[in-house]
Amino acid sequence: MNQALGQSGARMLLKRLRNVMARGGTAQQRLNQVVKLIAADMVAEVCSTYVMRAGEVLELFATEGLKQEAVHKTRLRVGEGLVGDIASHARPLALADAQHHPLYAYRPETGEEIYQSLMGVPILRGGRVLGVLVIQNKTRRQYADEEIETLETVAMVLAELLAGGELISPEELRPGDGNALLPLRLEGLVLSPGLALGTAVLHAPELRLQQLVAEDTDQEVERLHRAIAEMRDAIDRLMASSDLAAGGEHRDVLETYRMFAEDKGWINRQIEAINTGLTAEAAVQKVQNDTRARMREVTDPYLRERLSDLDDLANRLLKHLIGGDFAGAARHLPDDAIVIARNMGPAELLDYDRQKLRGLALEEGAAASHVAIVARALDIPVLGRCGGLLSRVGEGDPLALEGDHGQLFVRPPEDIHQVFANSLRQRALRQEAYAAVKNLPAVTRDGVEIALNINAGLLIDVPQLAVTGAAGIGLYRTEIPFMVAHEFPDTHRQAEIYRKALDAAEGKPVVFRTLDIGSDKVLPYWQRAEEENPAMGWRAIRIALDRPALLRQQLRALLLAADGRDLRIMFPMVTEVAEFDACRALLDLELQRAGERQVRLPASLQVGAMVEVPALLWQLDELLKRVDFISVGSNDLKQFIYAADRSTPSVNDRYDLLSPAMVRLLGQIAEASLATGTSLSLCGEMAGDPVGAMALMCLGYRNLSMTPPSVGPMRVMIRSLHLGQLCEYWARLVGLPGTAVRNALEHFARDREIAI
Ligand code: PEP
Ligand code: MG
Repeated sequence: MNQALGQSGARMLLKRLRNVMARGGTAQQRLNQVVKLIAADMVAEVCSTYVMRAGEVLELFATEGLKQEAVHKTRLRVGEGLVGDIASHARPLALADAQHHPLYAYRPETGEEIYQSLMGVPILRGGRVLGVLVIQNKTRRQYADEEIETLETVAMVLAELLAGGELISPEELRPGDGNALLPLRLEGLVLSPGLALGTAVLHAPELRLQQLVAEDTDQEVERLHRAIAEMRDAIDRLMASSDLAAGGEHRDVLETYRMFAEDKGWINRQIEAINTGLTAEAAVQKVQNDTRARMREVTDPYLRERLSDLDDLANRLLKHLIGGDFAGAARHLPDDAIVIARNMGPAELLDYDRQKLRGLALEEGAAASHVAIVARALDIPVLGRCGGLLSRVGEGDPLALEGDHGQLFVRPPEDIHQVFANSLRQRALRQEAYAAVKNLPAVTRDGVEIALNINAGLLIDVPQLAVTGAAGIGLYRTEIPFMVAHEFPDTHRQAEIYRKALDAAEGKPVVFRTLDIGSDKVLPYWQRAEEENPAMGWRAIRIALDRPALLRQQLRALLLAADGRDLRIMFPMVTEVAEFDACRALLDLELQRAGERQVRLPASLQVGAMVEVPALLWQLDELLKRVDFISVGSNDLKQFIYAADRSTPSVNDRYDLLSPAMVRLLGQIAEASLATGTSLSLCGEMAGDPVGAMALMCLGYRNLSMTPPSVGPMRVMIRSLHLGQLCEYWARLVGLPGTAVRNALEHFARDREIAI
C-alpha cells in the first residue's frame, strides 16, 4: 500500500467510525459495531477490543470473529500473552505467525486457534494504556506499516469511547490499582532531596479531545500551522520577558524548544496524521503517543532528553489548539502542588508558580537530567523512575513525597500524613533557626573558624550566597549551563554567564571549575563515541587538552568576565602534574592574548586543581609547588579509591568515607598542603555531611564547599562543637572501620549536644 492510498483508506475508515459513534445506542453496542467495521475495512477475520480493568487485567469486551461466549470472560493480565505484552510495553505488535511466538497464550474459549497472524495496538490516553485493539487473520499475513498506523489512529477514537465512562465505571478507569481509596507506596530514585506533602497535579492532564475525526483536512493543516506559529510567538515572548533575559540558562532551555518547534520532521509527521483524517489536535496527540512509545524503548540519555522535550512541546501545542489552560503556570494550582509527569523539561518546571510547587515525581528521569539539575538549584524535592506513577496517581490525590529515601505515598494514611506534617514543621523551624544565625561566623566553641562555601552551577544558585550567608562559591560547576543549552555556548555567551555569576556574588570569591563534561555530565548536542566506562573515560581536562581550543575559549571567557576583578580557576580530574602544567600554559597564552587586546586583567588570579584522581596523590608534592590552592573532590576520589561507581546505588554506599584508607588519605592531603601553606578545601558531598565534616575538621580541613541547604545545619553544628575535645576523642578512633567511626562520632555529638 503506498502512503497516499494508506492515508485515504484511513480517512474513509475514520469517517465510517465517526458515523457509528454518532449513532445512538449504548457504548457496548457502539463498540460491537466498531469491531465489525474495522474487521471488514481492514480485511481481517477477527477484530477484538480488550479493555483494562481494575487490577491490571485486560478483558475481552467486544469481538468480531472470535466466539461471542468469550466476551467478558477472557481475561489476560498485563504482560500475559501477546495482548498483555502490547499493553505492558504500550507498543504495537504485528506478527505473521503469532501462534509460534513465545508469548502466545492460547485461550480455548475464544476459538482463536485457526488464526495465524495478529496485529495489535495499545489504546492510549494521556500516556496510559486503556486497552488493546487487535485484528487477526487466518493466513500468515504480513501487516504493512500503514496498516499499523491506521489501527493506531482508530485506537485513538476508541480511547475516547472508553474514557467516556459508560463501558466501565469512572472509578475503575481512575488510576489507583482499581481502588482509588487504598493507600499506596511507590519507590523511586531521589533526584533532588527534600520532603513534600501536597496534592497531585498531573503535568499533562488527560485532555478530552472534542473532535478526533476531521471535517476538512486542509483546514486542519491550516489550524496546525497557525497553532505552531502561535506557540513560537509565545516562546519568543517568554524569552524576551525581563525575568528570563536576566535568568541566564533559562533562556538556553527555551531556545531548545524554539528549535524543536521548527523541526520539519516533527511537523510533517503531524501533517501526515491529519492526512489520515484526524483533526489537528488528534494528530498532535497521535505523534505524541508515538514519541512516548519510543521513549519507553530508548535507553540513550541524549535521545531520551530530546524525546521528552518533544513530548513537552506537544503539550504546549495542544494548548494552542484547544485553548485550555492546562500547562504549567497558566493552570489553577492548589497551594501545595506536587506535580506528576512522565518526564519534564526544565522550562516546564520553571513555568510553575514556585510559591505553590512543593515537589515533583517523574515516571522517568535521571540524576543528570536537566529538570533534576534545575530542581536541585531551586530546592524542590524530586523523585524519578517512579514505576507505575502515571497509572496509579490521579489528579487531586493526596501525596507525601519522601525525597530522602525515595518514596512516594499516594493517599497516605493519617499516621503517615502526621509524620510528614511534623517533619515539615520541624524543618521549617530549623530553617528559621539557620536564617537567624546566617550572619554569625562558623566558629567552634574553642575559636576555630571554618569557611563555609556553596557549590553552584546555575545563576539561580548564586543568590543562595546571601540566603545562607556562605563565604563564597567554592565550586562553580561551569558545565551545567552547557548541559541545559542546545548548542555549545560561544565565548561571548560564556563570558555573559560568568560575568553575571561574579556580579551576583557581589565580591564574594567564586572558584570557577573548567568544564567537567563526560561521565554522567552529558551535552545533548555533542555526539561522543560510546564508552564502556565513561567515569574513567574521556572527560574533563582530558577532553580539554585534546581539544585545546575549547579550554582556551572558556579561559578567554573567564578573563573577559572578570574584567579586572579577582579570578579563581580550578582544573578538574587532573591525573598527572604534567596535565596541570599544560592547562596552566594555555591559561598563560590566554593571559598574554588578553593583555595584547587591552582586556583588563584580573586584579588577582588564583589557579588550582581538583584532587579527585588517586594517581595525583603520589605527585602531591610536585603539584603543591605549582598551584595556589587544591580542592578535594571526594565524590570522584571515593569512587576511584574504592573502585565503586558513584552512580550505582548497589555500590555507592558500600564503603564509608570514614573508612581507614580514606581517612588516612584525606589526612595526608591536609598535612601536605599545610606543610606548603597551600590553601585546601573539600567540595564533594562529604563536606555537607555534618559527621563527615567533624572528621574533616579533625584532619585539618578549614574550608568546606557544599550544597546551599547544607550551610545552615553546618554552621549550627560548628558553633556547637568544641574541636579540641573532638580531636582528643578522634585520636582514639584511628584504624576503626568506617561505620564504627561514624557511629562513634554520632554518639560523641549526641552526648555533647552537638547539632548534627
Ligand atoms: C567531586 O568529584 O567530588 C566533585 C566535587 O566534582 P563532581 O561531583 O562535579 O564530579
Ligand atoms: Mg568530580
